[in-house]
Amino acid sequence: MPKILPIKIYPDKILRQRAATVKKIDKEIKRLILDMGKTMLAKEGVGLAAPQVGLSIRLIVVNTKDGPLALVNPKITRKSWSKELGEEGCLSLPDFLANVKRHKKINAIYEDAAGKKIKIKAEGLLARVIQHEVDHLNGVLIIDYLKKKDLPEEYKK
Ligand code: ZN
Repeated sequence: MPKILPIKIYPDKILRQRAATVKKIDKEIKRLILDMGKTMLAKEGVGLAAPQVGLSIRLIVVNTKDGPLALVNPKITRKSWSKELGEEGCLSLPDFLANVKRHKKINAIYEDAAGKKIKIKAEGLLARVIQHEVDHLNGVLIIDYLKKKDLPEEYKK
């Protein structure tokens, strides 16, 4: 049975690390994918990155209308010129929302849970969520998009 994993909360150092490439999608990674999917749904998140559950590896899950989708070693290969502002929260930054400018459309490549290379085109909320989660793999958080003066005290450091 998949289990709900504890979430790393800012300023946990793992949230600022660049995550490592997943070399092999073994049993443990497959189990982690299921646990992360369950965790994301239980916490009502729209996405979750492995560093948020304490593993500094390049794996994210995003919520789609068909349920959780796992992206292993995701890479954004194309970004639309046009951007849009949207409100985002983050499970690692409780009770905080920020307006973040993101590319409206992206193309990405990733490996699925079976190790197959997949290309996707995303726009709107899905594009936003993928950009947010890929940021996590590079140690970037939504507070980095705001001016210092707009941040609550606890995030100013
Ligand atoms: Zn987040």
